[in-house]
Amino acid sequence: MALIVHKYGGTSMGSPERIRCVAKRVAKWARTGHQMVVVPSAMSGETNRLLALAKELAPARATEAYHRELDMLAATGEQASSALLAIALQAEGLGSVSYAGWQLPIRTDSSYTKARIESIDDQRVRADLAHGKVVIVTGFQGIDDEGNITTLGRGGSDTSAVAVAAAMKAHECLIYTDVDGVYTTDPRVVPQARRLQTVSFEEMLEMASLGSKVLQIRSVEFAGKYRVRLRVLSSFTPWDMDIDEEARSGTLITFEEDEKMEQAVVSGIAFNRDEAKLSVLGVPDKPGIAYLILGAVADANIDVDMIIQNLSKDGKTDFSFTVHRNDYARAIDLIKEKVLPVLGAHEVVGDTNICKVSIVGIGMRSHVGVASKMFRVLSEESINIQMISTSEIKTSVVIDEKYMELAVRSLHQAFGLDQEAA
Ligand code: ADP
Ligand code: ASP
Ligand code: MG
Repeated sequence: MALIVHKYGGTSMGSPERIRCVAKRVAKWARTGHQMVVVPSAMSGETNRLLALAKELAPARATEAYHRELDMLAATGEQASSALLAIALQAEGLGSVSYAGWQLPIRTDSSYTKARIESIDDQRVRADLAHGKVVIVTGFQGIDDEGNITTLGRGGSDTSAVAVAAAMKAHECLIYTDVDGVYTTDPRVVPQARRLQTVSFEEMLEMASLGSKVLQIRSVEFAGKYRVRLRVLSSFTPWDMDIDEEARSGTLITFEEDEKMEQAVVSGIAFNRDEAKLSVLGVPDKPGIAYLILGAVADANIDVDMIIQNLSKDGKTDFSFTVHRNDYARAIDLIKEKVLPVLGAHEVVGDTNICKVSIVGIGMRSHVGVASKMFRVLSEESINIQMISTSEIKTSVVIDEKYMELAVRSLHQAFGLDQEAA
């Protein structure tokens, strides 16, 4: 019998009925003799509802004071769902206790709304487990050194769960969600997407970082760093299904490349609508411009993703880069106020109607022509590529947002990922 961590996402916790199903499933695992720690997300829609209330009262602000209150607010969603799950478990006849992040504590840095977990004190959890209780730990939240409540970024409960599993050296961390595993691409966009029985850690890391929100990127990073056995599976199967069958279902994130398995060149397609493009036009082409532009952006704590500097003409060039859409307005203002005057550039223009589409696969290491096939498929659909970036196991392009679904579907088919018709 082992120490197991379960994580249940928002939809899985979406109503009293769903919470009852979660409790029955967890009770089944506990009654088999496992020590159970459960990390729930807020009930579906709750985090959005809370954040929308804040926006109703005041437009979003980039100040620390504002972000602190957002965390104070958003963290309540997980506190409520955790208590409800503990109540539901007690109703099933099990001892159960829930803890907010600050009660353990789960320590994080002070980057409100995107805090990083630094340590987890598992003493109380271990003591409760030893007394036969099921322990519920709130997802998504922690506490900084000054005692402020922090949150870990959207989708952060995945990271809470993997971090708890790592800290407690759990046998496995099971991420229960509203799909039955990791697919070749988002099955809501491409119905022909196929579930992967296993996916390598490196591919999962790329997929998550490129927009597949089935797992938050930091949860995958944690799993890699601490070698946490991680599985994604459905919470919508009957709760009383055979436990061994359940334990084998879904998608396992693997750390060893399986030599025996036939290696697909491209394993998955990710996409992301969360970015925006800024182009600084008429930049004098001289040493130090990239530093001048991107240094100012970095100083403002804004992450930059893709970067392109065009060939110069008459000593002038254009410099484009992408940032998260949430940072877009701030980045534009910053370039206008701090960079253009110093640089002597003409102007900055922005585009929020872009998306990034990426193909991911370990097989790309040993095959040539994968990227060019991607470009061919897009050109056949008359989709214009605005930016390109590549690494060993992925190629990403930025295109007009309105072609996103077309691009993803065509690439999915062209790389042989569609499931065979039944
Ligand atoms: P939860 O609330 O359980 O955390 P999320 O909505 O955060 O669930 O993540 C699950 C969703 O991720 C799925 O409903 C699906 O639409 C989306 N998704 C995106 N890419 C993939 C993928 N490659 N495989 C499976 N699901 C994906
Ligand atoms: N409730 C948070 C969110 O909606 C965290 C999570 O669901 O993982 O982003
Ligand atoms: Mg999620």
